[in-house]
Amino acid sequence: MSQTDAVQQIHVDIIIIGGGIAGLWLLNRLRSQGYNAILFEQDCLGSRQTIASQGMIHGGIKYTLDGVFTSLSETIADMPNRWKACLAGQGEVNLSNAKIFSDHVYLWSGASLGAKVTTFFASHALRGRVGAVAKPDYPTVFQNNAFNGKLYRLQEIVVDVPSVVSALAKNYQTAIFKIDWQQANWLQTHKGRVEALQINHNGKVLTIQSQCFVFTAGEGNEKLLQQLSIAQPEMQCRPLHQVLVKHDYPHPLYAHCIGTGTNPTPRLTVSSHATPDGSFIWYLGGDIATKGIEKTASEQIAIAQRELNALFSWIDFTQAQWGCLHINRAEPKQRHFMLPEKAYVKQCDAAENVIVAWPIKLTLSPSLASEVIELLHKLRINPKYQGLDLLTTLPRPEIAQPFWEPIFSSQT
Ligand SMILES: Cc1cc2nc3c(=O)[nH]c(=O)nc-3n(C[C@H](O)[C@H](O)[C@H](O)COP(=O)(O)OP(=O)(O)OC[C@H]3O[C@@H](n4cnc5c(N)ncnc54)[C@H](O)[C@@H]3O)c2cc1C
Repeated sequence: MSQTDAVQQIHVDIIIIGGGIAGLWLLNRLRSQGYNAILFEQDCLGSRQTIASQGMIHGGIKYTLDGVFTSLSETIADMPNRWKACLAGQGEVNLSNAKIFSDHVYLWSGASLGAKVTTFFASHALRGRVGAVAKPDYPTVFQNNAFNGKLYRLQEIVVDVPSVVSALAKNYQTAIFKIDWQQANWLQTHKGRVEALQINHNGKVLTIQSQCFVFTAGEGNEKLLQQLSIAQPEMQCRPLHQVLVKHDYPHPLYAHCIGTGTNPTPRLTVSSHATPDGSFIWYLGGDIATKGIEKTASEQIAIAQRELNALFSWIDFTQAQWGCLHINRAEPKQRHFMLPEKAYVKQCDAAENVIVAWPIKLTLSPSLASEVIELLHKLRINPKYQGLDLLTTLPRPEIAQPFWEPIFSSQT
């Protein structure tokens, strides 16, 4: 083989690194706008935070339980309608093959809601987005005399996340590749600009030059920036210790239990997921997951058992199987470790053709993609190149499976 046979060069417009919800949504938007964009994933598509998420497409209400509209609640309020349009096949990306678990979520409290929250829900600002549920309309889970709380219904959807990942991946599967970093490296100028991604494949060196590189690798963004000696932006991780309950109780629940006091985060968030053997998983997040990060699995499970027994005394969980999941939420570093208020998109000062992005929430992925496109326009990066012929033999990533399958299959 001659030297020229061994080195191949291709130009693309945008290389996206990381195939979670952020990277996949962005790939869909960019390709539909004519950019020759490609995505590299090192593991399975959706394999980290995305597949671990509860699939709730928030409209911001759970962030406003202290009665204050923050900029997060305003940015996010737009998102459910953008997602709904996509799920109906009429939006900015085509999610018509993805599944919706529920077109609403419930908010409830163990006893009566605080006066402040009740007034807030009744306020003019929220009319149409949330409504009190009358007793005869309670979902089966709450139809028990032992339930003496107050129930509200929020017009927020819950999506089946693996089906969303699969739909986004299938729309542009020819532009998605698996990367093995043992066989890949960056080409950078001495001023820090990134020139290309170089991949050794089948005895050849493939040099992929790109106008721009977008990092949507979640927690992996930090390592990517280190590889390129880019110090800013810095990342923070906010850990969660989620709990999974597998049981035969046949009724799904998508709901937030509101805590007492002025704490704006839910005491417990429950989403439900059917498994292939016909049982349900109740996936538990909220305060239990944020406060339980130092707990061992058995301590965390004991807390969850007490919590479910207190909130659902009429449901028998004695035969349930229990599991836990530690997972980090990756975000740009904030002062006092605060929750960032919107999707984060930033051009790197040290490498002007690198953009780093974290969506902060699954819900905000449409906003992230729009912000990246806006930044590309500002940087005058327009569609220029065509064709992916030289890339067709590169390996392709699988789509991540629901993460609880290994957790419960190891218990049986
Ligand atoms: C337990 C939990 C529950 C949540 N529930 C909700 C919810 O109900 N609603 C909501 O709106 N948000 C929710 N979120 C937040 C939401 O899941 C995340 O904000 C979102 O999934 C982040 O997506 P991402 O694509 O940035 O990152 P990830 O989903 O983490 O994806 C990053 C991808 O990049 C890949 N990668 C990493 N490094 C590299 C590399 N060097 N090269 C190539 N690929 C790489 C990873 O393998 C992964 O596939 C939840 C988060 C958690 C943890």
